[in-house]
Amino acid sequence: MAEDCLFCGIVAGSIPSETIDSDERTVSFMDINPATPGHALVVPRAHSKNLLEIDDEDLEATAVAARRLAKRMSDSLGADGINVINACGAAAWQTVFHFHLHVIPRYEDDPLELPWVPESGDPDEIAKAAAKLRADG
Ligand code: AMP
Ligand code: ZN
Repeated sequence: MAEDCLFCGIVAGSIPSETIDSDERTVSFMDINPATPGHALVVPRAHSKNLLEIDDEDLEATAVAARRLAKRMSDSLGADGINVINACGAAAWQTVFHFHLHVIPRYEDDPLELPWVPESGDPDEIAKAAAKLRADG
């Protein structure tokens, strides 16, 4: 547990939350500023700052928990779709620095929009980035 970490406090029960699911490695609870009705968060019980630091087993467990919630959102809330979103780093909109997955039920008529405008990329730029990203690059 990290001192002064909001989500460690929720996992420990010292900060209140609407908990909806838990297992050996994860806890899931409702987001207090829901993007759509039913927006939930999945966190590992063990503190890790972000996607770059979380260990593989906790990452797997949070993904499995997110899918569990997605099924319930579909069955119990009538969600038409689901977004699973992670923010890694302040530049990527992370505001709470304990790894979490947002599980956001989507409804045909909800107001959320893609945060980028899809436009054709420059093939040379794409190929250069691909070369840097390949494991042997
Ligand atoms: P992010 O900005 O991706 O780091 O997500 C942090 C999320 O935590 C935001 O969607 C907040 O609304 C949510 N949040 C902040 N405080 C609480 C809290 N006490 N209980 C539940 N969710 C929270
Ligand atoms: Zn924490």
